[in-house]
This record gives sequence, structure tokens and C-alpha cells, in this order.
Amino acid sequence: MRISRWFSNLFHRRAVSSPEPSSTTPRPTQPPARSGSTTIPVDTFEPTAPMRVSIGKTTGYSPLEKQKLDRAMVKLGEVLNSREFKDAVLSHTYAGKPGFASDSRTPAEIYSVIRAGKENFTSAADGEVDLNVALENFSWFQRNVVGYTTPSSDTVTTNRRFYAGFDESEIAAHLGHEWLHKVGFEHDFKATARRPYSVPYALGELIEALASKPSLTPL
Ligand SMILES: [Zn+2]
Repeated sequence: MRISRWFSNLFHRRAVSSPEPSSTTPRPTQPPARSGSTTIPVDTFEPTAPMRVSIGKTTGYSPLEKQKLDRAMVKLGEVLNSREFKDAVLSHTYAGKPGFASDSRTPAEIYSVIRAGKENFTSAADGEVDLNVALENFSWFQRNVVGYTTPSSDTVTTNRRFYAGFDESEIAAHLGHEWLHKVGFEHDFKATARRPYSVPYALGELIEALASKPSLTPL
């Protein structure tokens, strides 16, 4: 089996003063949606409608890099709306019990959160993956960093050195992992034994595996 690279050395930039969130403490109140945001949340959310993937602002992408992004986001949408994704989330276990590491919610609750698509920088659930993305040439000192974002940011910045080597499934997994943080899922910062079973890591792996399949079963 191929070793995924999209998560290796992924760097989530954190505010130095903020404590590590845990699954047992309430999450802090999120700031209101930024004015001038390129994504416009809608108030009408139909849980049974297909999820959409909406990349707002793309910064630093060449036309070819943007085409690759677009193909990856089509794949991400197909995965999120697939029977295979739903079944895998709902049947996920960690330590012999239904669920994921670093999260006390049930698989059904976690799946609902994903379907709602309520990012911490948007004001309403809209059933949509909303992200702005940027591509940069990282400095030599950050050459092994895949990408970064901050907890409240609406933008994921990716290191072009990695992006160039990613196939569409890996891009879908990379951005899927980051987006899962935006809808409230966490994992250990260090590479602990349980981290692969957290929602962002486990479902990132799942997204890559399903996006690589020639076809998926729509919900
Ligand atoms: Zn992460």
C-alpha cells in the first residue's frame, strides 16, 4: 500500500496563547463571519441534498494548478456524497467502540456535522465545503511543511513543492483534512498512537482511498 504524503509534516499554525482544545471542554465561541468573505452562506440547509464543494478565493495558483484543484474538488464532492463515505464514517471504530479518537461524539453525530458544512468562519450551515486556498513557495526553513492554516482562518495555504507532487486524490485528502478542522474536528498535535484514528486523519485517509476509486455509489 502506498504511503500517503498529504499529512506528513502538516503544520497547523496555532495561537501560542491558546490552550490545546480537548474533546471534553466546550469549544470557544467562534468569531462572527468576516465581512467581505468570498463565501456566502445560505440559511436554507436541506440535509438530504447533495453536499457542494465551493472553493472561494484561490491565491497563487497558475491556470494548470487551478485545473488540478478543480478536478480534486470534483472528486472530494463525489466522495462526500457517496454511500461508501457514509458507511465508512458510520461504521468507524476506535479502541473497539464506535467513534473516533479525540472526539466524544457518535459516528452519526459526526456524519451530521460533516453534512451540515458549518465552518467556524461562516454564520450558517449550508451543506457546503467552503474554503479559500492559497499556494505558496515556502521558505527553505519550511520546505518540509505541507501546508498551514489557523483555527479561525478561512484559508488553507499549501506548499507548492508538495502540491506539485500530489495527485488529485491527495489534494482532496489534504484539503478535506484541513476543512474537517474548520467544522470543529481536532487531533493530537503530536504524532500519538491515536492520532490516525481522529476524524481529520481517519477521514483524510478515507477521502484519499475513495477518491482513488474509479467510481463511487451516489447516496
Ligand atoms: Zn490536522
